[in-house]
Amino acid sequence: MDEPILTIVVPCFNEEAVLEETAKRLRAVLSRVCREHLASYGSTILFVDDGSSDRTWEMIDRNIQEYRDITGLKLSRNFGHQNALISGIETARPYSDCVITIDADLQDDVNAIRQFLLKYQEGYDIVYGVRDKRETDTFFKRNTALLFYRIMGKLGVKMVPNHADFRLMDRRVLDEFVKYQEENIFLRGMIPLLGFRSTEVYYNRAERFAGESKYPLKKMLNFAIDGLTSFSIAPIRMVTYLGGIVAGIGFLIGMYALIQHFLGHVVTGWTSMIISIWMIGGLQLIATGIIGEYIGKIFKETKHRPRYTVEKRLLTDGRRDVEKK
Ligand code: UDP
Ligand code: MG
Repeated sequence: MDEPILTIVVPCFNEEAVLEETAKRLRAVLSRVCREHLASYGSTILFVDDGSSDRTWEMIDRNIQEYRDITGLKLSRNFGHQNALISGIETARPYSDCVITIDADLQDDVNAIRQFLLKYQEGYDIVYGVRDKRETDTFFKRNTALLFYRIMGKLGVKMVPNHADFRLMDRRVLDEFVKYQEENIFLRGMIPLLGFRSTEVYYNRAERFAGESKYPLKKMLNFAIDGLTSFSIAPIRMVTYLGGIVAGIGFLIGMYALIQHFLGHVVTGWTSMIISIWMIGGLQLIATGIIGEYIGKIFKETKHRPRYTVEKRLLTDGRRDVEKK
């Protein structure tokens, strides 16, 4: 088998503190796997600048001028981690045999890339990078993540636990993937849906090399809710059941109240009334919220807007869509 042309896609959002080191380490790994004939010398690293407001693009640009194996994509504004990944994948697809996506902050072990390629040569189409331990994450993040995987699993969404967006995908996988045109994307849930032969490679997840996490609590929560509601209608079904149960209880209480009325008893239950009003009010709000989530999703999908906009594309010479600055 000829050595595959590999593209390593790296989404970057305000990563000036790590970028130099990331580029250095990735280049080292790339040249090593090329020497070992695990990947072709035509392989490249594609940095995607997701609308950074710091010097990220400047640094990417400098690396592009200096090294042949570094390329870059600049999005016109911040589109979010998942869209940045997609823009990189779609750009690399026409000229790559396989793509590896990895975060810019060096939390994922760059040395695992070699294992990915060994598995790829064994014939696997998807290789998931899975964290061995999560001890570098906070207690809170670890447990909420666990809870999230549990809930997703119960709702029937197949996901690889402790796998973030560090993975290898063969071109055939990407060809199928780009047919999924939905607006709300959650790669971790979508890739397993595609099928194909897949395997896992374990690695230790390190601390962020420098800079800050771009996933504060609120963003993480939003990410989880999006993941949940993009993949399953189970929550909305739950609301229906819940509504049925509450209505049933309401009916019984109504009967009871009527009987009491005809027996001539005076109504005393102020407490129970207040409790029921609040309880039902709360349930209704939750139900409306969940339904709203789905309507919001439908609204977004019907617009069919592009998921990202590329402002500048700096690929290596000889490729078709090179754009000069
Ligand atoms: N990222 C991005 N766009 C965003 C947020 C993050 O491209 O809007 C990139 C970021 O630069 C990093 C990766 O996505 O390479 C993962 O983000 P981060 O490390 O902040 O997330 P965490 O590891 O804390 O979950
Ligand atoms: Mg990180």
